[in-house]
Amino acid sequence: MDAHWEFRRRAEARLEAERGRGFFPGGHRFALVVPSPYPQGMSGLGALWVYDRVNAVPGWGCERLFAPDTPWLDRPWRAWPHAATVTLETRTPLSEFALIGVSLSAEVEVIALLKLLRAAGVEPLRARRAAGQGAGPVIVAGGPLALVATGPVGAIADLVFLGDADESLPAYLERVGAGAGFLEAAAGLDGVWDPALLALPPPERVLPAGTFLPAVSRLTTPEGEFGEKILVEVGRGCSRACAFCMMSRRARPCGMRLFSRDAILAALGEGAGFPASVGLVGAAVSDHPHLVEIVDTLAAAGTRVSLSSVRADRASPELLTALAAGGLRTLTLGLDGASERLRAELGKQCTEDDFLAACGHAAAAGLNAVKVYCILGYPDETDDDVAELADLLSRVPRSLQVRLSLSALTPKPGTPLHAAPLPHEKTLVSRVRLLKKRLGHVKIQAPSVKDAAFEHAVDHADAAWVAELLNKIDQP
Ligand code: SF4
Repeated sequence: MDAHWEFRRRAEARLEAERGRGFFPGGHRFALVVPSPYPQGMSGLGALWVYDRVNAVPGWGCERLFAPDTPWLDRPWRAWPHAATVTLETRTPLSEFALIGVSLSAEVEVIALLKLLRAAGVEPLRARRAAGQGAGPVIVAGGPLALVATGPVGAIADLVFLGDADESLPAYLERVGAGAGFLEAAAGLDGVWDPALLALPPPERVLPAGTFLPAVSRLTTPEGEFGEKILVEVGRGCSRACAFCMMSRRARPCGMRLFSRDAILAALGEGAGFPASVGLVGAAVSDHPHLVEIVDTLAAAGTRVSLSSVRADRASPELLTALAAGGLRTLTLGLDGASERLRAELGKQCTEDDFLAACGHAAAAGLNAVKVYCILGYPDETDDDVAELADLLSRVPRSLQVRLSLSALTPKPGTPLHAAPLPHEKTLVSRVRLLKKRLGHVKIQAPSVKDAAFEHAVDHADAAWVAELLNKIDQP
């Protein structure tokens, strides 16, 4: 089968297997580019939220275009068949859309986005599109990366939606639908940045708690990374102050806005029956004061419940018992700093006692494993800090399998660590070796300095950097 037919057949099979699609053809057309392959792209609540939102605006239909699956994704864009740049819903070439939306959640997606636009014949750089006298489509962007990597996102997009777009995106589409120009329609909308008019982004839009509803993923596919699990937001932002984190109140003073227990359960279809499997999503899910009740309610209805991670000091026996009843088998804890000293300096508020107590509660609740996230490479980190991590993990109850996932520090703009140097590869390699030597029984995922360096470059980049990256992408 040639590549064109391979893409086309796969797209048809994917559409067939999906449930909860809200797209109806006709009316105003919005192409949503998700620069990740379909299984990952369909597992992100942000892109699914945009899809739902656009389709809910009268007269608008949202069509999706994902990055090609590997190995195609890593091949030069010139090798991609035409079918790689047509929308899933109607097989329309991306270049035929007047309005393109991009949902960006991770730095690596910038490469895929540039390749997708190039392959589709859409000029990726905003300034060059403008120099073409407005012949190209208008690109609007949003998502968590838009708040961090304002340089590259502003170099690509004509409009950037910053922060909560629950009101601004529908308002924008309504204005366009009523005949306003694509750029004029953004005038006066809070948190919408027109980089051609304003060199620096305005403050992100922060809606007060209680004025908007939790995002929920109504569209599911068996190919999704989490299967057909329904994802629901329990809160936005975080009230904590971890120095490395772009979600912390030091980087984003909006703090945490919680959805009520009733709003979360209603979003999941309370009354009509809950889904078979639910994932609770948010920066700090375990800080929700009614989490135990929510998990208990879902588990009692026979729903499997999972969440990305639990803060050690919130992993109470009640919560872990409820999660075990909801089918959880692995407790995920973020240590984020190797030693008590580092965690205190970072404002991580996770002591050894908290961590070991959480592991003890997990074992008592019948969980099988604990997965621990830790960042290595802080400027003042020493071998002694890392040895302390090895010692701590060796004290986890033996009934729990331990998995350690390590990442390299990536200093994020806007955080207190923004100017910290990237960790040296040699130092990281020797610290991982130390951990492996001391923790023979632990499965360790080593950090990638190369990935951290790329993330760092994107986060701190400007338009010239994007143009240079584009040149590299264009090389045969
Ligand atoms: S690491 Fe977690 S708890 Fe700390 S600021 Fe970020 S989201 Fe909040």
